Amino acid sequence: MMPPMCAVCPREPRDGKPLSEFTLVYFRATRTYDVDWVGHPENAVWFCDDHAHLAEGLTDLTAPEALARIR
Ligand SMILES: [Zn+2]
Repeated sequence: MMPPMCAVCPREPRDGKPLSEFTLVYFRATRTYDVDWVGHPENAVWFCDDHAHLAEGLTDLTAPEALARIR
């Protein structure tokens, strides 16, 4: 499992941020590439609460497609 880390926000230490502020969003599954995180679905991505609601409106897309729209 990947550590909770928003896929959109700049990478920074989670100082004082409880894990509950991150949401795992599942996008449309794709078979175009292999899972490279053992045990972690390729279509599941962590987001902070600021971005989770944006991601949850794009779950009909694949994760790369959704990330391209959010960024
Ligand atoms: Zn974020």
